[in-house]
Amino acid sequence: MEFGRYGSAPAGSRIGFENGKIRVPDDPVIPFIRGDGTGPDIWKATQAVLDASVARAFGGKKRIAWFEVFAGDTANQRFQEWLPQETIDAITHYRVAIKGPLTTPIGGGIRSLNVTLRQKLDLYTCVRPVRWFENVPSPVKRPQDVDMIIFRENIEDVYAGIEWRAGSPEADRLIGVIGELGKKIRPGSAIGVKPVSEFGSKRLVRKAIRYAIDHHKPAVTLVHKGNIMKYTEGAFRDWGYEVARTEFGDHTIAEADLGGNPAPAGKVVVRDRIADSMFQQALLRPAEYSVVATLNLNGDYLSDALAAQVGGLGMAPGSNEGDEHAVFEATHGTAPKYANLDKINPSSLILSGVMMLEYLGWHEAAAAVERAVAKTLGQKIMTYDLARQTDGAKEVGTSGFAQALIGNL
Ligand code: NAP
Repeated sequence: MEFGRYGSAPAGSRIGFENGKIRVPDDPVIPFIRGDGTGPDIWKATQAVLDASVARAFGGKKRIAWFEVFAGDTANQRFQEWLPQETIDAITHYRVAIKGPLTTPIGGGIRSLNVTLRQKLDLYTCVRPVRWFENVPSPVKRPQDVDMIIFRENIEDVYAGIEWRAGSPEADRLIGVIGELGKKIRPGSAIGVKPVSEFGSKRLVRKAIRYAIDHHKPAVTLVHKGNIMKYTEGAFRDWGYEVARTEFGDHTIAEADLGGNPAPAGKVVVRDRIADSMFQQALLRPAEYSVVATLNLNGDYLSDALAAQVGGLGMAPGSNEGDEHAVFEATHGTAPKYANLDKINPSSLILSGVMMLEYLGWHEAAAAVERAVAKTLGQKIMTYDLARQTDGAKEVGTSGFAQALIGNL
């Protein structure tokens, strides 16, 4: 298959999609974006670890045909475009991709490449699992109690970036219209719009509940600020309960219906928490939470706050998933001051690779990498970010960490 300026994809097969599920061949073509800044360093480490694990787990029967595609600085340098159409086309065609961090262009044009990719491919769920590995320094007393997975709506909310500058004709016009509707906004204000739809909320919560059922998790918590924003965040909560009741009635029970009793065996409890209280709960009683479903902005804050409890962004993986497409990514930025120094922690992208292997159904290879990460950190072999906070750590660079992981596979 030819992709314009990128030429032909490497030999391999396309991931299929049938009856609502992906079908994975033994040699899937997977587009990857190396990323900017430290991206090339962490990508090299990640590719080596994933390839080694797949080769070992399946005795050479399965392999990934990596296809390099471009976005961000590299794309801008080569093609004078931040996000070439060929990249969108390749990911659309091959369905699963993985990416390093991208520089956010400053000034006009594209607001954020990540947001644009999510919107163009309709990757409506951001999935952020948060767990602790032994020996990883943490600011909390019991980081082992944090084992959550956050499903964050990825397309809507104020985060969709529908906003107008203070004093612009558009903002002034909206202030006028809102005035006609009986609500007062101070003249000259900037205006942002917060769209939250039934369709968008329900499909997000549906994914979270399905995950909880498939993975035998005890509860799904809908996190919202519906006490104040009744028609947006409050509606998200109500639509969430509705999905649970109407589509998963046999598998779920609302917390309010328990009457204080324990949940019946095999039922997922669906409950809601107000966002500010959830931030407290996440610190005080994290063990009581497993699957969280929330709106875009709440999810952005909550996933980084939780990541801080288990070692920070260098340890936090993530994915952006739609119905038939998924893009796995490092959750941190490009950390440009460490570019090409072989220094930064590659765990975020490597663990995103683990999520990708899980998504492909290559569970043996995924589990092996996760075990190797645990074992390597257990031996206190760490990159600078963790080593500087750990007594007796053996500090290694990005590639050294990858080699240690491969040795521990
Ligand atoms: P950043 O790149 O995440 O880096 C901030 C600091 O976090 C680093 O200086 C480093 O701290 C620490 N850090 C980040 N990743 C790490 C890792 N893998 N291992 C160890 N430490 C790590 O944030 P930023 O400087 O605000 O953003 C830089 C660029 O990235 C911007 O253009 C931004 O828009 C973009 N960005 C992209 C994405 C994405 O593509 N997903 C996400 C966020 C930001 P120390 O200095 O303490 O060592």
